[in-house]
Amino acid sequence: MRIDIITLLPELLHPFMQLGVCGRAIAAGAVAVECWNPRNYASPPHRIVDDRPFGGGSGMVLMAEPTLAAARAAQAANPDACPIYFTPRGTVLNDKLARELAQQAGLILLCGRYRGVDERAVTAFGGREISIGDYVLSGGEPAACVLLDAVLRHIPAVLGNANSAEEDAFADGLLDAPCYTRPAVFEDQPVPPVLLSGDHAAIKKWRRQQAEQMTAQRRPDLLKNK
Ligand code: SAM
Repeated sequence: MRIDIITLLPELLHPFMQLGVCGRAIAAGAVAVECWNPRNYASPPHRIVDDRPFGGGSGMVLMAEPTLAAARAAQAANPDACPIYFTPRGTVLNDKLARELAQQAGLILLCGRYRGVDERAVTAFGGREISIGDYVLSGGEPAACVLLDAVLRHIPAVLGNANSAEEDAFADGLLDAPCYTRPAVFEDQPVPPVLLSGDHAAIKKWRRQQAEQMTAQRRPDLLKNK
């Protein structure tokens, strides 16, 4: 999969692209990521990318021209990609959407800054609008990191254990069961005995019960969608 990111702060993304799931995906050749900075598409010598909002109010707005020029360059390099604009007004990202996006040939991620992107550039870009939650970030870059991590772990060959994403929360519409490792007793807390029994059917049943109980207690809304 090819992923292009339109961002004024590629430096924020570089460490993320070198480590963890994203770093592994790139190193394995499963994913290629490129950043496009609207500042490189702004007029010299000052390369200004923001201006005051029409109608007044606080903050600055990311200008349409350099943003769209960067976006169009990315779209030319990745013509079959699904365009995405990060915004608090978008569809909230969840596991189902992450799995859908993992099926795409490519993604183009437009990260806003300041008060946001001039709406005319948003319209011309034509992206799917995605939020990562009901709070406001200073820019779309943290949203890009969250989306990349959530999407890439669903691409075969990215996770070390091909099945592990299928054992995580939401894979079957439930939260995950609690997990334990050595030592068998930690600060007077023993591991649930079934996990030491070697009885795989009993372990599977226990994990399912725990997942159902956890979901009913913490996220009953998930059970309604099952
Ligand atoms: N004025 C905008 C509003 O209230 O909807 C917020 C702008 S925010 C300070 C700057 C940029 O951060 C946005 O254009 C968007 O790209 C990104 N952003 C902020 N919150 C986000 C969220 N919850 N999900 C995804 N992106 C977000």
